[in-house]
Amino acid sequence: MGEVIRQITVTTMPQIDCLLCRHADSDAELERIEVWQDAHWRLTVSLSAEVAGFAYLEPKRHISHIHALDGEEASTFGLALAKCSKALKDATQAEVIYSYIFGDGVPHLHVHLAPHRAGDALSDQMIRGEIVEEKQPNGITRFYSAAFPALPRDMLVRTADDVRKILRRG
Ligand SMILES: [Zn+2]
Repeated sequence: MGEVIRQITVTTMPQIDCLLCRHADSDAELERIEVWQDAHWRLTVSLSAEVAGFAYLEPKRHISHIHALDGEEASTFGLALAKCSKALKDATQAEVIYSYIFGDGVPHLHVHLAPHRAGDALSDQMIRGEIVEEKQPNGITRFYSAAFPALPRDMLVRTADDVRKILRRG
């Protein structure tokens, strides 16, 4: 008799091995120190940065991206963001606090909070390519990428309409 080997497939939830969920490990690995936390959020300041006070605000619980923000974290996000931004501005006397959320790198929501002064290492460029400045008749300066011209206006209007419809659904 041949041996019958029955394969058993064990289905488990995918294990999330998320560096940012391991708070102490992530602080050591990313060279940062925790300066504040509450029930839902923690703020760490980088010890390896081009500007003093470069910080990360992130939920303690694993929330992958800004579009996945929900629960208590969704309702406390604004307060945490305001509190931490103000503290960073007061501590560094920066002119403004840049806030960046990307999401295509480490899939655990984190806001980069970067104290900024004119002439420092930070860039306000959101689009790639050579930036062209164009003074508009109304006095506003428009910036655009020479490599990536604006998309057709009707396409942009259609997308705005789609967003409005989705938000109306609630
Ligand atoms: Zn995580």
